[in-house]
Amino acid sequence: MIYTLLIVAYLVSSVLFILSLRGLSSQETARQGNVYGIIGMAIAVVATLTVPGIDLYAILVPALGIGAVVGWLMAARVAMTAMPELVALLHSFVGAAAVLVGYASYLDPGMYRGSSHGVFLGEVFVDVFIGGITFTGSVVAFLKLKGKVSGTPLLLPGRHMLNLGLLIGSIVLGVLYVQSGSPFADGTGAIATDGLIWLGAMTLLACVLGVHLVMAIGGADMPVVVSMLNSYSGWTAAAAGFMLSNDLLIVTGALVGSSGAILSYIMCRAMNRSIWNVIFGGFGTESSAPPKKAAEGAPGEVQETDVDGLLDELLGARDVVIVPGYGMAVARAQHAVNDLTQLLRDRGIRVRFAIHPVAGRLPGHMNVLLAEANVPYDIVLEMEEINDDLPKTCVSLVIGANDIVNPIALEEGSPISGMPVLEVWEGDRTVVFKRSRRTGYAGVDNPLFYHERTRMLFGDANDSVSALVAALRARAA
Ligand code: NDP
Repeated sequence: MIYTLLIVAYLVSSVLFILSLRGLSSQETARQGNVYGIIGMAIAVVATLTVPGIDLYAILVPALGIGAVVGWLMAARVAMTAMPELVALLHSFVGAAAVLVGYASYLDPGMYRGSSHGVFLGEVFVDVFIGGITFTGSVVAFLKLKGKVSGTPLLLPGRHMLNLGLLIGSIVLGVLYVQSGSPFADGTGAIATDGLIWLGAMTLLACVLGVHLVMAIGGADMPVVVSMLNSYSGWTAAAAGFMLSNDLLIVTGALVGSSGAILSYIMCRAMNRSIWNVIFGGFGTESSAPPKKAAEGAPGEVQETDVDGLLDELLGARDVVIVPGYGMAVARAQHAVNDLTQLLRDRGIRVRFAIHPVAGRLPGHMNVLLAEANVPYDIVLEMEEINDDLPKTCVSLVIGANDIVNPIALEEGSPISGMPVLEVWEGDRTVVFKRSRRTGYAGVDNPLFYHERTRMLFGDANDSVSALVAALRARAA
């Protein structure tokens, strides 16, 4: 009876997770999607606690309580701009958990009763191998995103051969480990250590592989890596599900793994990169020089504008395109941007938003911020929906964006070469809101700033847009 209830609970959770993913695919239904996910996870946790044989409640319940409080505090405190770091850190927890669960299962005599040892040992191998890569790869991604490790790609000579060597070495160690059989084979209850040694050596190689794969990725390509690690964490969970014979873990892991892989593929297509190069590390870096450090005094003369000058141009415009970027998130300027949008629309000016797929620091970052500020969804357009309209646009306002509007991406030999960008320089006028002439995340100088039709409005994006809103209201009064 208890098993039937468990299967029903796991089935309901699986359906709720699928509904959750479906909900999260659109801004209008994202909140609902989150609610489905929360309910599904609550059912899954409670159901798992009732599995016969799970009785260490004195440890499990406090651990759950502490985990819930820590998770709640982290999520409540994290700044939107630090979200990718948090996500990378959480993926590293999944990887570390998979490795620990793998070892715990391997060292649990109960796992060897009645089942085929070879298959079980293979499952432990896959779980620990992907877990090790996910763990160290995510830690490096976290450190890179946090700026503790340089965003410059580490391009060791013969790095692809090194990766291949680590992979083959891990497989060989895996075969030796599986051949060692159950560590309890002698029947005395003592643990035979040869299999454990092979497993330990393989874990080490997997961890080195994780570090090397992500160290080889340069600044602008990090979004795809974070999404790929998300996918790896899902496959790790699925492997753990097979090892523990837990159907829900298999389904959930497969959902996370495949949705992460699909997202990575979509992002690769958007950034004109090959998915295989992401998987094998160091993509987008073959022909490119390492990114330069932020350049204060970059070449070229910029032309500045001020709030009054910009206001005149805006009031004379037929249509305006707003390109938000990471700086809008830092300045928390989205509410002022929404006010500006409403005021311009009230005056009959057509306003649309152009969203680059890697704007900000996490997929969908700009959509989330604009939704939070109540910008209508129907004027928020994806890059491919609006790029063709940019040459006909009267005024483009680039608010805290840099790499995503960098024309150098259309030329050979830079770290962002090949990445499609929003071609705002094709329009009549481009105004860039930022604080200085510093580079963006990829560390590449931006010739847009020196373009003859570009004007710079220096200052914090929230201050500048708020000043614009105030001036617009004053003119209306
Ligand atoms: P960028 O990082 O290229 O540029 C942001 C610009 O915002 C900076 O040049 C900065 O200039 C400006 N800025 C910062 N703070 C403020 C402020 N308070 N007011 C005004 N301006 C400000 O961002 P983009 O959105 O253009 O591009 C995203 C980049 O991040 C891409 O390279 C992408 O690959 C990468 N990335 C994206 C991820 C994703 O999933 N979306 C994840 C990880 C990386 P200044 O200092 O002069 O003000």
